[in-house]
Order: sequence, then C-alpha cells, then structure tokens
Amino acid sequence: MSWKTLDDMDLDGKKVLVRVDINVPVEDGTVTDDTRIQRIVPTVHEILERGGTAILMAHFGRPKGLVVPEMSLGQIAPAVEACLARKVHFIDGNYGARIGELEPGSVALLENLRFNPGEEKNDEGFAARLASLGDIYVNDAFSAAHRAHSSTEAIARLLPACAGRLMQAELRALETALGTPKRPVVAVVGGAKVSTKLELLANLVEKTDHLVIGGGMANTFLAAQGIDVGKSLAEHDMTDTASEILEKAKSVGCTIHLPADVVVAREFEAGAENETVAANACPADAMILDAGPNTVKTLESVFETCETLIWNGPLGAFEIPPFDTATNAAAAKAAELTKAGKLISVAGGGDTVAALNVSGAAEAFTYISTAGGAFLEWMEGKTLLGVAALEG
Ligand code: ADP
Ligand code: MG
Repeated sequence: MSWKTLDDMDLDGKKVLVRVDINVPVEDGTVTDDTRIQRIVPTVHEILERGGTAILMAHFGRPKGLVVPEMSLGQIAPAVEACLARKVHFIDGNYGARIGELEPGSVALLENLRFNPGEEKNDEGFAARLASLGDIYVNDAFSAAHRAHSSTEAIARLLPACAGRLMQAELRALETALGTPKRPVVAVVGGAKVSTKLELLANLVEKTDHLVIGGGMANTFLAAQGIDVGKSLAEHDMTDTASEILEKAKSVGCTIHLPADVVVAREFEAGAENETVAANACPADAMILDAGPNTVKTLESVFETCETLIWNGPLGAFEIPPFDTATNAAAAKAAELTKAGKLISVAGGGDTVAALNVSGAAEAFTYISTAGGAFLEWMEGKTLLGVAALEG
C-alpha cells in the first residue's frame, strides 16, 4: 500500500483539512443516527492531540451546486460537537478570514461543499480554494472515495496528503479480505438482482475459491440451468449472462454454490405459509424467498474450510421473517468461526449490514463496511479515485 497515514505527517502547529463523511440521517433537525460521526472521532482527536487544527470538510444531501438552506451542515454541527466533546466552529462563508481567526487547536466545520458547483465537477479552482485553507490534507471518507470530487481527488494533488484512521482501517480490512487474502476465500453474494451485481460476480469469480450465490439472484442462475422457478423474482433476460459466469468459474477453478433446497411461499409477506422444497421443485404458483436448511449446512461446511469470507447481499428476503432464516444462520456461523479466530470476515452493503445487525452477528465480524457504493466498487475490482489520489 503506497498511501501515507497520519503516522507519516507532522501535525504540530498545522492546519489540517479533513474530508469526512457526516452525511447522517436527520429528522426534524435532529440527527437520528450518529454512527458516521462517531467513526471520525479518532482521527480528529489525534490531530488535536498532536497540535493540529482540524478543519472538517463534508457534503450533506444532494443540493446539486446550489445553496439549499435545508441541507446546511450547520444543523449537523451540534451532533459533531457532542461526539467530539469539543466546540466546533461552523464556517458558512468567507472561509479564509474565518479560519485565520481560529485559535490553534480548534475544530472547524465548513458548510456543505456541494453548495459549490465546483465540488462534484472535481474543479481544480475550487480544490485550490479549499487547499489554500490548510497545510495538510487528510481523507477519512472512504465512503466518498469512489467519486472524483474537488474535496476527494483534486485537492489530494495540491497538498501533502494522507489517509485518516477510518480510511486506513477500511482499506486495510478490504486488502486483507480480497487484495492479499489468506486462502481459501469464500464470497457470499446475495440480494435481489444479477443485473446490479454483474461486475461484482465477474471479479469475485476471478479472486475467490468459493462463490456462494443466494437471494433473488440465485433464481436467475437456477433458471439459467433450465429450472422452473415459478413466480420467483428472476431476471429471465440475464440467464445467458448467468451461464457465462458459471462457465467462467469452471475455467478458473472457482466453485460456485447455488441453493440445493429453497423455502417457497405464495405470498410476499411476514409469516406467509411456506414450505421447503428441492431447488428444482418450486411450484408454478410459488416464489422462492429463502435458501433451505440443506443449503445452509453446505455453506457452513464451506465456511469451515475457508480462512477468509467476504459477504454482500442477503440470502433471502430477510425483511420478512421467517425468510431471514438462512441469512441469520450463515451469519451466526461466520460470527462463531471469527470469534474462534478461524475466519477473517468482512461484510458490506446497505441491506447486508442491516441484516447482520438485526441477527446480532455483526459485532463478531472482523470488519463491517458502512461505505455502500465505495465498498461495492472496491469489490468489483475498480480503482477508487479518491484512494488513487492519495497514492500520488
Ligand atoms: P445490499 O444492499 O446489501 O447490497 P441488495 O440491495 O442487493 O443488498 O439486496 C437486498 C434485497 O434483496 C432485500 O430487499 C431482499 O428482500 C432482496 N431479496 C433477497 N432474496 C430475495 C428473494 N429470494 N426474493 C425477493 N427478494 C429477495
Ligand atoms: Mg440494497
């Protein structure tokens, strides 16, 4: 890894510009979940402890280059103050003068960067204006690193730049899981559709030893093998693509695991009457909503033979019990092996993280990425432009 960290920087007496992700949910002016803010605390506190001034830069919502008062970061500032247990100076204009007035060792938060049309265009001029406010650039927003914006990409080329502690932890976890993993590696990919995860599947086939396909997308793979999936969610126009992935896996020695048995129901609702059948025996008027117990047993034994697990996408319609059963059981097994020191487990994706949290397994995982789009692009094998800029 060729990017620098805070360890490589002299922060004493420096103004440190820190790109953070504090795009948190807000209802009636109150932050309802401050997880993202909590996660930037170590980086900010370290900058202050080492004699620096921290100038936080972030976006909030999608104002599209316009000043939209409802999307002001001013409303997030109190929550940032609470998490940092420090006064936060909110700076909504006249950046240079206001920052000049700051006492060394203080914390400032700039107004929503996306109020400026330059930000999302990766405009060099806007980046230069931001860069002029500080001496060092720290990127601690992995979740925004898949986008080349002034505050994530262009600015990194204008100042001495490094990864913050959160970015560092995320990159290290991902590197451990897929970059140079301990083998064998198993990937679990579930969720609704093949079409949204094509590039993901293509990359994972190349990089893993076992690929478990579950959720709605498994139905498309079953259909590709000529199996009638009844009324199940399936993309019948994607069956050729699914077949190609199966062929590719064979040629590179990746073992694909499709469901052997499935749980079917006639209604898509919690507690719907259901039955377990072989994967090739879905009744014409039913839909597959979860993997069955035999499939789960196979997964558990695959997990036992592996050193590394990477997971994106639930194995069934986990929002409506009991169709969360397979996801929960597989998650519990991964948690148990991780706790016993036998498995490195990394998971990410909005619904995946929700499912693992509800099942209670998340805490035991080696790393849970909350980065959404950036995590997926990374799993797809793409270069994250914000990370590449740090390597410059
Ligand atoms: P993530 O957000 O973690 O990337 P996805 O958005 O790809 O995950 O997939 C989650 C969605 O897939 C959930 O809404 C879940 O209900 C749905 N899903 C999983 N299995 C099935 C299935 N068999 N039939 C219908 N929907 C399913
Ligand atoms: Mg989702």
